[in-house]
Amino acid sequence: MLTKKERELYQRQMLMPSWGTEAQEKLCRSTVFIAGAGGLGSPVIAYLAAAGIGNLVICDSDTVVLSNLNRQIVHSFSTLGTPKVDSAARRLAETNPYVAIRAICTRITSRNMSSIIGAPDIIIDCLDNFQTRLIVNEYAVRHSLPLLHGGIEAMRGQISFFTPPDTPCLACILPGRMKRSGRKIPVVGATAGVIGSLQALEAIKFLTGIGSTLRNRMLFWDGQDMRFDTVAISRNPKCSVCGGK
Ligand SMILES: [Zn+2]
Repeated sequence: MLTKKERELYQRQMLMPSWGTEAQEKLCRSTVFIAGAGGLGSPVIAYLAAAGIGNLVICDSDTVVLSNLNRQIVHSFSTLGTPKVDSAARRLAETNPYVAIRAICTRITSRNMSSIIGAPDIIIDCLDNFQTRLIVNEYAVRHSLPLLHGGIEAMRGQISFFTPPDTPCLACILPGRMKRSGRKIPVVGATAGVIGSLQALEAIKFLTGIGSTLRNRMLFWDGQDMRFDTVAISRNPKCSVCGGK
């Protein structure tokens, strides 16, 4: 049941005819697991909190450093040196005190995944490497959890939504085994803003049931030429992760 204050807080989104009280209450009851509190995680966390997602679980092992601040907008000079999950939680408490935040400062591995993830309605991939993405993907497939993928570099990025067996999984569309490169990926802050905002919107649509999501489609954004392209993607029947499902 929304309070008078919450109704005022969410008034502008609830004005959408398809939204109303029912969709807002769905969001307030939802739990979202956000893997990564960096460039993509920042807009995802900020917009999901502002929209009134009831429970946000944020997982990241890093601390805030100066070179994060060109794009990781939930962090600031005042939180340099503190764990990113704590920095994000501090900011969110000011954005929306009605949101419950669970901050987990650890690196995701195949061994700890089951003990940290809980029972989210959706997992959002805001990670910066494919090795961890594949660990999260495998867990999501095994436990039938929806996974919203996002990735960025320089002035481009991509996003898709995986709910196998109705869609491919992340492993279906990756060319072979990805090696850890360790290189620092160039990123303009606004790029993280574009793709992270799209991820937040896709999550909100999925949780409320409004609109259609990027299932079986991958959206590519090229900011240098300012193009959005959406391509159809399909399952790999021989996929080692979801092929047998
Ligand atoms: Zn697959």
